[in-house]
Amino acid sequence: MISIERGLEIVTTVAAAHAGDDWMPAESVPLAESLARILREPIYCDFDSPPFDKAIRDGFAVRFEDVVNVPVDLRIIGESRAGAGADVIVNAGECCEIMTGAPLPPGATAVVMVEHTARKSNETVQILKGAKQSAGLLRQGAEALKGDRLLDSGKRIGLADIGLLASVGKTSVLVSKRPRVAVLATGDELVDVSETPANGRIRNSNSYTMLTQCSLAGAAPMLLGIARDNLEDLRRQIRRGLEHDVLLVSGGVSMGKYDLVENVFAEFGVNVFFDKVAMKPGKPTVFGFRDRTFVFGLPGNPVSTMVAFQMFVRPVILALLKASDRPAILEATLEAPAKCDPDRAALVPAHVRFDAGSYRIAAAAWKGSSDLVGLSKANALIMIPRREGALRAGDKAQFLFMDA
Ligand code: AMP
Ligand code: MG
Repeated sequence: MISIERGLEIVTTVAAAHAGDDWMPAESVPLAESLARILREPIYCDFDSPPFDKAIRDGFAVRFEDVVNVPVDLRIIGESRAGAGADVIVNAGECCEIMTGAPLPPGATAVVMVEHTARKSNETVQILKGAKQSAGLLRQGAEALKGDRLLDSGKRIGLADIGLLASVGKTSVLVSKRPRVAVLATGDELVDVSETPANGRIRNSNSYTMLTQCSLAGAAPMLLGIARDNLEDLRRQIRRGLEHDVLLVSGGVSMGKYDLVENVFAEFGVNVFFDKVAMKPGKPTVFGFRDRTFVFGLPGNPVSTMVAFQMFVRPVILALLKASDRPAILEATLEAPAKCDPDRAALVPAHVRFDAGSYRIAAAAWKGSSDLVGLSKANALIMIPRREGALRAGDKAQFLFMDA
């Protein structure tokens, strides 16, 4: 049995050794479809931003020296509107009416907002409050200069990035192709979600949580359905699965008489790196590699499947995507004591909330690793270290947000 840290090290090393550029080529997608994809080209600024000295207030463009002593009357010599500008030069005693987003006319050095003025006539405005040099405006290139690198390859495209890509004229973006992940559930007891289970049967929920976790990570999942606990069925489905970049099998990896998944992995020549991890839940997690496929056998209990995916599958998908984002491990104050286990680290479903300036976390009431009802009340996993003793209420503990 290996530690979580060692397991992660193995997974990352194997992924780095195989996930070359030829494996996961980039593809071009329309900007509107690029959210959450992994950028595969650096993005540069194609114009200074802003491209001209720009008003950020509605008001009057002035020479700041003219408004040191207020109130003062200035002569209005023109109007600069967004998208047009004004063909004037502001000299002493003059000003130019200006709108937000409009170019600053030459000669002007500040914008006084309209709320700090009183219009006297068409030609005259009284300035009621002074403005420092460069107040009310943004200088050309203040945000970025032409040629500046704005985004790095590997970044997961977020909401602000979409705006930024649009502003530099990217109608389409180069992103990582989505790794193809085959998702297989195993078990004689499983029925499809559309069926009503009877006689000791249950609905297959793991296929859908694995599918969703794949999508959240940025992969393209493919449901292979349910394989029964016999060698023929497992061989047939695992053979199909091995044509994908990643194969995920849930169930059939424990010590039971009908847990045959590892046998079939061996028959197909999968090189298994580990099949037990010192973590709770998720101990019987299998990781291997064959030809061009990363292979996982995940424990069948719904909570274990999810946790094992989060800990070991997600990093492989991120490596295939050449993504630079990593799950944030945060710190919270425990609201109740938590027992440690000297043999295994635990990932405990919990509810975390932000209160009085810090995260506070409490284990969710759940009935073990099959309890989806309890899990759905949790939004995080507390990481309980592998050691003797217990963490006390008020102690700090690390946690991960679950949907991250
Ligand atoms: P296994 O790992 O195959 O021994 O399964 C452990 C537990 O998880 C059993 O109670 C199974 O019924 C349950 N289980 C296995 N696969 C699924 C699935 N796809 N959806 C929901 N529960 C499952
Ligand atoms: Mg089973």
